[in-house]
Amino acid sequence: MRTSIIGYPRVGALRELKFATEKYFRAEISADELQNTAREIRKKQWNIQKDSGVDFIPSNDFSLYDNMLDTAVLFNIIPERYVALGVSASDTYFAMARGYQGEAGDVKAFAMKKWFNTNYHYMVPEIDDNIELKLAGTKPFDEYEEAKELGIQTKPVVVGAFTFLKLLRYVGSKTAEDYTEAVIGAYSELLARFNNLGAEWVQFDEPYLVHDLSAEDISLFEKLYSGILSSKNEVKILLQTYFGDVRDCYRNILALDFDGVGLDFVEGRKTLDLVTENGFPEGRLLFAGVVNGKNIWKNNYKKTLSILEELKKKEIDTVIGTSCSLLHVPYTLKNETKLPEKYTAHFAFAEEKLTELAALKMLSECDWTGAGVLQENAALFVDRPDCRDAEVQERVAKIDENDFVRLPEFSTREAIQKEWFHLPPFPTTTIGSFPQTADVKANRTAFRKGEITEAQYIAFNRQKIAACVEQQEEIGLDVLVHGEYERNDMVEYFGEQLNGYLFTEKGWVQSYGTRCVKPPLIWGDVSRIKPMTVEWSTYAQSLTEKPMKGMLTGPVTILNWSFPREDISLKESTCQIALAIRDEVLDLEANGIGIIQVDEAALREKLPLRKSDWYSEYLDWAIPAFRLVHSGVKAETQIHTHMCYSEFTDIIQAIDDMDADVITFEASRSDLLILDALKENDFKTEVGPGVYDIHSPRVPSIQEIKSALDKMLKKISPEKLWVNPDCGLKTRGTAETTASLENLVAAAKELRNEN
Ligand code: GLN
Ligand code: ZN
Repeated sequence: MRTSIIGYPRVGALRELKFATEKYFRAEISADELQNTAREIRKKQWNIQKDSGVDFIPSNDFSLYDNMLDTAVLFNIIPERYVALGVSASDTYFAMARGYQGEAGDVKAFAMKKWFNTNYHYMVPEIDDNIELKLAGTKPFDEYEEAKELGIQTKPVVVGAFTFLKLLRYVGSKTAEDYTEAVIGAYSELLARFNNLGAEWVQFDEPYLVHDLSAEDISLFEKLYSGILSSKNEVKILLQTYFGDVRDCYRNILALDFDGVGLDFVEGRKTLDLVTENGFPEGRLLFAGVVNGKNIWKNNYKKTLSILEELKKKEIDTVIGTSCSLLHVPYTLKNETKLPEKYTAHFAFAEEKLTELAALKMLSECDWTGAGVLQENAALFVDRPDCRDAEVQERVAKIDENDFVRLPEFSTREAIQKEWFHLPPFPTTTIGSFPQTADVKANRTAFRKGEITEAQYIAFNRQKIAACVEQQEEIGLDVLVHGEYERNDMVEYFGEQLNGYLFTEKGWVQSYGTRCVKPPLIWGDVSRIKPMTVEWSTYAQSLTEKPMKGMLTGPVTILNWSFPREDISLKESTCQIALAIRDEVLDLEANGIGIIQVDEAALREKLPLRKSDWYSEYLDWAIPAFRLVHSGVKAETQIHTHMCYSEFTDIIQAIDDMDADVITFEASRSDLLILDALKENDFKTEVGPGVYDIHSPRVPSIQEIKSALDKMLKKISPEKLWVNPDCGLKTRGTAETTASLENLVAAAKELRNEN
């Protein structure tokens, strides 16, 4: 058996590409110097893969910013507004990626969207009727040749025609179908070029195939590939799927003339059944994604070998591979100096996964039952140290249906709370964080490095809180926040204070562009050690007569932004986290905090790709987990939640079933579409659709905010409407924040006068 990698991380093990691009944006290095860094990164990791014995090494999986954007440029999809800037090719590319504001003009970037069910965001290229879709770029060929010159034969990777057409944004009158001929032509030409260059295989990534597909989708897929494959020459073609199984089109795939088909045996619940029940044609290669490309746990060799054994029995010619690109895991454990070996022994980051592939290849070729490597590996799955906590497990086991139900029911509580808080109509508030200015970050860093004492650290933050409270009072906001100065990140902050969590030093994973996040690892049973936010919140409350909102992150978001365990279900992990947050909610309440916000910014993130799985695989436990957090509070305690994406019109009932008292969300950028859905669904929860976009430094005028509110009032009854920005203010500057919030309060006052 041979081994294959779908794609490798690309930002550099120490984020070299991020720092180089940032220097380029600041005009500190030239485009050539940036390319040199990129070339170094590619060279290094091709060699690492080669030295690990990987048989199918990818090329063109690299990107300076994003692969979808690269594919758009490759096929000439560069809207006129970017061409019109008349800047260099490299600056045009980055204008599409990040927008451009300068002497040559002022254009916005392409939109950004979540890449399937990952935390990576891709650029959504726009195609209009004037664009001629054709092969125009050379990046895949250049990178293929670059590797070849290093003595490495690679398998170039390109986003497949179907996925590409499905993900494009059509801004003209044409649709995907109108481009089929052009796309077939462009991909055929690409294959011809690779043929001339001597490539043996080309990989087309088609993750879109793991969705629920309509008959039209399948026929588009078939049309595209009958066309592309009809011009096939010497180059072999691998159709690579990932992030699930291809149950809707498995036979259609096999009916086409692919030389290899890549299937995901990790996330694809039905993959093995599909293959064993329908068979797999002789003479083709099955690229079996058996090593998890998305999580950081070591592979269970015995389990994997039993899958490979089954494929062998069916005489299927199998290549051992990863379930998806390794883009979604950190580079290597080699850079982790602080995690004890008793923990790291259980992890495999990208580089370590290469070793796993080599081991699996070796084992699958011999009679593996007695091999030492196998025994060593099996021992890892018998038990892990410090991961079980009987008390936590008992507590989870004792949860019953009533724990998910808050009483009295919503409308009764709503009346009680109106009476209790006496807030003016259209109450104003913010989402939690205030600007994280340099001094705030410096204070945290100094404390972390031991340069200041804890007392000094706290004193500084208290000063910040006091100033923040005073500022909010001056502005005239109704429900105040403490500003979140103590937080580096809304998940890490809580993870660091919970039992069961581990942290890496260099475990960066790309989130968008060359920006990375460092997800914590859930190692064991999660519980709260002691109150986490109570001191900050009660201090802030002591400074004002107005209600001070407690500020927590919800269990689903904490889970979704961490690397989860694989030995217990996501549902169980989430319940453990929910209980820990529940304890914090009750402590806040007991200490006089009457309004508590539990952020579920990432609730939508792990929604399954197949609609048919939305409830059974996810929402059926995710929503109750949130309710578990707040079901124990008194009727007059007001629970808020916040979600970042307003793209929840299709799960609106589930959101209402979270049974929060108030929900705030981003709405300013989505044309307030969600308002219709709220009205149609008779949404009971009070709502604060964001009245301005905090992702931009511009200050919204009173008029602008007022007119947004007027629109909202057409769909939302006045007693349910809150007035707030669309997200936390931590990335903003102080001056623009004050000005924007003053306008927000002024607009709310106008509204009160009119209603
Ligand atoms: N309370 C958080 C903040 O204001 C919410 C952040 C978020 O929605 N991502 O920063
Ligand atoms: Zn948000």
